[in-house]
Amino acid sequence: MHLKSRITKLGVYQAGKPIEEVQKEYGLKKVIKLASNENPYGCSPTAIAAGNQFLNELAIYPDSNATLLKSKLASHLNVKETQFLLGNGSDEIIQLLCRSILHEGTNSVMADITFPQYKHNSLVEGAEVREIPLIDGYHDLDGMAHVIDEQTKIVWICNPNNPTGTYVNESSLRAFLNKVPSTCLVVIDEAYVEYAAALDFPQSISLLEEFDNVLLLRTFSKGYGLASCRVGYAIGNEKLMGSLNIVRAPFNVGRLSQAIATAALDDQAFIQETHIKNRTEMERYYHFCDQKGLAYFPSQTNFLLFEVKQSGEILFEKLLREGIIIRPGEKLGYPNYIRVTIGKKEENDIVLSTLDKFITS
Ligand SMILES: *Cc1c(COP(=O)(O)O)cnc(C)c1O
Repeated sequence: MHLKSRITKLGVYQAGKPIEEVQKEYGLKKVIKLASNENPYGCSPTAIAAGNQFLNELAIYPDSNATLLKSKLASHLNVKETQFLLGNGSDEIIQLLCRSILHEGTNSVMADITFPQYKHNSLVEGAEVREIPLIDGYHDLDGMAHVIDEQTKIVWICNPNNPTGTYVNESSLRAFLNKVPSTCLVVIDEAYVEYAAALDFPQSISLLEEFDNVLLLRTFSKGYGLASCRVGYAIGNEKLMGSLNIVRAPFNVGRLSQAIATAALDDQAFIQETHIKNRTEMERYYHFCDQKGLAYFPSQTNFLLFEVKQSGEILFEKLLREGIIIRPGEKLGYPNYIRVTIGKKEENDIVLSTLDKFITS
């Protein structure tokens, strides 16, 4: 049996190292994992309570249309219920978009470096991938607009960008959208939108009315702290969402996950607190970098990519032995950098004092 050769050429996704594995390998009791941008404060207690109630209903299939969750999202974001598509994480929506839109002879445009799933899924569909290098860690929107042609079917903007944490502001985004042909879908991945603090961060929901070819991607995995529930969603024009529903697996978002995500929306105080604590702790990392003279990318997310003046991979190994899991920059395109998820105060105390030992000023 042979898979399509373009698939066997690709690699399996490399997730952050699991806590259990590190504990066993290094004989450690306590391990701090700051590698996958999970919410260090967990999730809303309201969401957990809702989940508990549904544990008696595990025999029942989920609502295929996720009616309650969509209606909650619609009133929360002030758009129509029919403008949503729910996915098993936004990862699944990326896959769905590629499967539905791309094929051999088409191309998709993205930054280099950005979230790897855009490229991966484009290649699975046999599309050409046009990657435009970041400029100082920021999307080069002019460069991206320049390579769009009639065969460009999707442009991906990760905003804020993973792994750099940088963002595209409202006016640059508008200027870009005005240049993109209406036949090309612009996917704006806002996985970290709950963390964005910049005053000129795009008010993306209002762009949807102006630009029919814009699709927003959001998730409950990051700010809402529900990564294990696998709930992501797209917001876009009704016609496209309707068509994508044809490709979607009927029960792609579990019953428990729907209930938990729906309840999580009610607790905006949790999101607010997460946002504030994250900004406070982020400042400590900025301060550390400034003191040590390390370069970093100012971040609108809950992670920071910063210089460590040595191989990120080697520092990663040293930190593992101390029970700290982070992401080395090598695989993210920045060899002498590491990407650290901003943890809780107590976690950051340990991480910063450990880094202090390993990085000389
Ligand atoms: C984490 C992440 C996602 C995937 O989120 P899920 O909803 O958990 O699949 C998508 N895009 C970016 C940029 C991310 O960092």
